[in-house]
Amino acid sequence: MAGLVSSGFRHGASQGSVLLLPSIENLKQRWQGFRDAAERPSRCLFCPSGRIWWNGVRIRSASVRGDGPAAVYIPDIACPQVKCARCRKCWTLRPEGLGAQRHYQLCVVADATARYLFEPEQCLDNVGQAVGCDRRTVGRWVEWLAALAEPADLLRHVLHAAGAPIVARMHPAAPVARNATSAAWQAVRHRASQVLSLLEALGAALGWEPPALRSVLSAVWGGRYRATTYARPSLPDFARRLLWGLGPVCPHGP
Ligand SMILES: [Zn+2]
Repeated sequence: MAGLVSSGFRHGASQGSVLLLPSIENLKQRWQGFRDAAERPSRCLFCPSGRIWWNGVRIRSASVRGDGPAAVYIPDIACPQVKCARCRKCWTLRPEGLGAQRHYQLCVVADATARYLFEPEQCLDNVGQAVGCDRRTVGRWVEWLAALAEPADLLRHVLHAAGAPIVARMHPAAPVARNATSAAWQAVRHRASQVLSLLEALGAALGWEPPALRSVLSAVWGGRYRATTYARPSLPDFARRLLWGLGPVCPHGP
């Protein structure tokens, strides 16, 4: 039976925050109080040892999405570091929801890229100004998004998640002034629009909390240290496996 996955983006100040429940202030308190609440891990991430030592604190900051387009800056997030007594490897503990190795959290990236890609009046400059970051940062997010996954792989995941043949609604990239862009950048925008649309369809099919960029990627990455928009982006995980245990479906296999 054919159906339709609704993939309406929830972006723009008028629709409010979709990230912060119950509030930014609660999130801020939870993140800034994490040092006191954190428990020493009972097992090493890298070897079977159970001898883990505290090994200092890393002070982080993060920007999250607020009620409007402007990102909300949260300073002084103390993340304890631990070290294995056996293999001597170290890692950093983070409060739930705080992405590794990124300042702007994925809720901000999802909102900013959706506004840039799908709202005709937006450009890199005014999206950057609204968020409170450089226009090049927004541009980097769009490039990262475009290379994040193969649209065909994402579509397969959407079809399996929906459990039926469906038509994923694709949002076309909004047109931009001809003299303000190149054919190459238009291609990047087109591809980023496809990836964002399909991620949103996937998140909706799975019933996960929007924005799907955050919920789906969090599931794919599983807390690993890959959620950066600086590293050469790719999501080979989408090609190799499904997220929900049905096994690999892609022809190029696991
Ligand atoms: Zn170890």
